[in-house]
Amino acid sequence: MTSTATSKPDILMIDPMPDDITQRLADHFTLHRYRGMDALGPVASSIRGVTTGGGAGLKPEIMAALPHLEIISVNGVGTDQIDLVEAKRRGIRVATTQGVLDDDVADMAIGLMIDVMRGISANDRFVRAGHWGKLPVPNSHALTGKKVGIVGFGQIGSIIAERADALRMAVAYYARHRKDGVSYPYFDSIVALADHVDVLILAVPGTPETRNMVNRAVIDALGPNGYLINIARGSVVDEPELVAALTEKRIAGAGLDVFVDEPHVPEALLALDNVVLQAHRGTSTVEVRTAMGHLVIDNLLAQFAGKPLLTPVI
Ligand code: NAP
Repeated sequence: MTSTATSKPDILMIDPMPDDITQRLADHFTLHRYRGMDALGPVASSIRGVTTGGGAGLKPEIMAALPHLEIISVNGVGTDQIDLVEAKRRGIRVATTQGVLDDDVADMAIGLMIDVMRGISANDRFVRAGHWGKLPVPNSHALTGKKVGIVGFGQIGSIIAERADALRMAVAYYARHRKDGVSYPYFDSIVALADHVDVLILAVPGTPETRNMVNRAVIDALGPNGYLINIARGSVVDEPELVAALTEKRIAGAGLDVFVDEPHVPEALLALDNVVLQAHRGTSTVEVRTAMGHLVIDNLLAQFAGKPLLTPVI
């Protein structure tokens, strides 16, 4: 007789998940936490599913070490850290948590924009340092009436637009294609959009095509009164160019949730008051992390029950 325990599919968890989600995973699967290639060795051939974050992805050497891998259930929507071509070639399914996180990531973009333009984090440091009453309280910049350019007008970009609209900012956007039924002005060039707006918000995927999309020309077009907000991927921005522009005040400020080499943040940014930094927290709310975790599990359950995935990529 086969015991329930031994019939559970073996799952490799690359990124930690909330405790209640981890418990539900363990209820349905034999759960292995990734602790390096050496520790993986003895169990590698039993692994049929992987859970991982969008930022962490699945390193090629780990995918190659799992001969019986059937599914990668991503706890996020970015698949830029997964070799989808290789996954497809091997018949490995990939699912993401699309549809449950868009509002909170859009909120992070808006939060970063308000913070950096109104100097909220900078003034928090001012108060804590005891400067209030001793130094002039610094002024910041208004949002109302300013122009916001959204780069990438998909699930998240379109929600950022609704929220910016509610702040009575003038929205325009750039994507590969003009969107049917969208009345905001469309720009067919990111440089032209950057030239037009006060704030540029990035909401494109990290792909070879979007790598360093925000280069010197875009930064110069945004100009010394312009702000850059990035909740997309670090790779979308030429990071050394951005650091130089912020240091030399060739742009007014930046709100950054994502970086090229996470968790490493360029040292020069730490000293700048016109930059707000986050540890890739766009989806980091209890509500969204819980919904994402359940969707990760439900995709795994669907795969092993021979049912269609709920939110497949391939
Ligand atoms: P989505 O619905 O697929 O929308 C992506 C948008 O980007 C589309 O409008 C698309 O344009 C545009 N785009 C793609 N490639 C482009 C290119 N080469 N040039 C110009 N525009 C391009 O994606 P989403 O769900 O909104 O998510 C966007 C990204 O946000 C994700 O891929 C992920 O990297 C990032 N993200 C970050 C966090 C975080 O925690 N910070 C959380 C979730 C997601 P077309 O429609 O014209 O093709």
